Amino acid sequence: MAGWNELLDQLHELADLGAATAILDWDQQTKMPPKGAEARAHQLATLQGIHHERLTSAALRDALEGAETAGDGPAPFRGEAGQALLRETRRIVERGSKLPVPFVKELASASSRAFERWQRARAESRFIIFRDDLARLVDLKRREARYVGYREHPYDALLDEFEPGQTATATAAVFQEIRGPIVALLRAIQASPRQPRREILTQHFPSDNQWAFGLEVLSTMGFDFEAGRQDTSAHPFTTGFSPGDVRVTTRVYENELPVALFGTIHEGGHALYEQGFAPELMRTPLANSPSLGMHESQSRLWENVIGRSSAFWRYWYPRLSARFPEQLSRIPEEDFVLAINHVRPSFIRVEADEVTYNLHIILRFELEVALLEGSLEVDALPEVWNAKMDELFGIVPERDADGVLQDVHWSYGSFGYFPTYTLGTLYSTQLWMALKRVFPDFEDRIARGDVLFIREWLRENIHRHGSTFVAQELLQRVTGEGLNPTHFLGYLRQKFSALYQLVW
Ligand code: ZN
Repeated sequence: MAGWNELLDQLHELADLGAATAILDWDQQTKMPPKGAEARAHQLATLQGIHHERLTSAALRDALEGAETAGDGPAPFRGEAGQALLRETRRIVERGSKLPVPFVKELASASSRAFERWQRARAESRFIIFRDDLARLVDLKRREARYVGYREHPYDALLDEFEPGQTATATAAVFQEIRGPIVALLRAIQASPRQPRREILTQHFPSDNQWAFGLEVLSTMGFDFEAGRQDTSAHPFTTGFSPGDVRVTTRVYENELPVALFGTIHEGGHALYEQGFAPELMRTPLANSPSLGMHESQSRLWENVIGRSSAFWRYWYPRLSARFPEQLSRIPEEDFVLAINHVRPSFIRVEADEVTYNLHIILRFELEVALLEGSLEVDALPEVWNAKMDELFGIVPERDADGVLQDVHWSYGSFGYFPTYTLGTLYSTQLWMALKRVFPDFEDRIARGDVLFIREWLRENIHRHGSTFVAQELLQRVTGEGLNPTHFLGYLRQKFSALYQLVW
């Protein structure tokens, strides 16, 4: 037990350092005046440096070995939870210490330079400005994969950081299974005579009222405002410092209703996860989701599966149009529901709908894998990007800013991150199937405005466990099966056939 106390002390301090860093980061993105940026960069770097030092220290390794030798920990870390804590600690310690310090520094400076170049390249829509930095990052990422180690593909080592246990081969197989059917569904929707009136959503919607409506939805979802708050930021995000303090952000566009509305519901899904970790896991690596995909399954379940469903708006549309009578009182509910489910090929991933979004991810995944294994040269990237756009969407961007330069991820050196969005989407529809089995009146309850039971079920089955179980194991426990993309395809066909009156 002695080993355990030492380990827990060190893990608590590491978690505190992580939370302090996260608070500074939240503040930077929401409240900090522009002139604070320089000092803030130092403050963040100092805290991150201390965190990394401690994570890779001999003292932590010794404490970990001590606890491993001792076996069972003190409550609540007896049995399963104790083994899980040792597993997670070992995973992050090993990943952290496999990368030599000079390499970590080189990667950090290459990324910060690449980020600045990327911003300029995107503003001017000239790939050539970003080309050398991107090539350097790809090279560094290959080195990182070698340091970390992998069995089959260098991509596995990178994907594993975000989606532990998931491999390139398994991901490619799943993506291959959904690629063709999504393209076929997109073509069928495009051919449908029934098309949404998108202008319903681009009327003027004053921001105060949008904000108030968003808060009403958030609190109905079960977001605890005593344990969190919502603010605005340029890019919406969720961050949690403990289950008792979870921050969400959104942005409000007065002429684009869905941005704040669905942004709020999406981040709300992430936030319920963070508020739902069992209190006894606090200040340990288990107070975390087991993977980014699992976290994203929560936001996508709330935003798309629930928030964009006809059932949801049966309750909420009268309330929304009461807030915006001038804009919506003459618009029938079904026209509104069709408008928020407008499916069309588009260039920009973050603006994409539920059907085409995953094609954007598949495109990026295929390119990342090819870059990492060396079968694709950085020079050929814009051209190959556009060819894949044509193949999947039937459209080709005229400017690189609308194509290969649109996303920030690669400039940060984040390779292996994109697939987690689609994995999360697939998990979300598997959870939806499970919910419908447990609650046969699932849709009726949503249509009556009752969604709290969903939060309760998710909290009991997913949130409270944190990362006690790895993602695939958790999915298996909750849904009775592993990753299975057929549920997502079934969900899409059912939903969009009804909305667009498709005949198959
Ligand atoms: Zn998200």
